[in-house]
Amino acid sequence: MALIDCPECGRQVSSLATACPDCAYPLQKKVSSSSGAPPAPTDDLLRSALATDRRARTAPNSVQTIEQTAKSWKAAQLIGGLLLVVAIPWGVLGGERAIGPSLFLGVIGLIVYLAARMGSWWHHG
Ligand SMILES: [Zn+2]
Repeated sequence: MALIDCPECGRQVSSLATACPDCAYPLQKKVSSSSGAPPAPTDDLLRSALATDRRARTAPNSVQTIEQTAKSWKAAQLIGGLLLVVAIPWGVLGGERAIGPSLFLGVIGLIVYLAARMGSWWHHG
């Protein structure tokens, strides 16, 4: 059993002790860092890398969310517009029997389209 000097208080402590009995300075950490790979720089690197990653991810994330919202509203507008495009000729050309369902489809299409327009306006205005 070797004795080492505590780097904190200078007292001689057993090299097997995990901490200085006098000032509770953690010794085992110091021993492992001097013999093996130094954990502190890796830790700092990892932390800074994580911080950079977080910083880089925060900005595009909000932009992406807005883009995705806009995209879903555009898709809803497209669906509503398509329903209208289908419903109008169907009602015109389909005769009496088609008036009911085509009107129903057209109204739904109009509601979806208008709702999507209002939604995109609400989210961006
Ligand atoms: Zn000590």
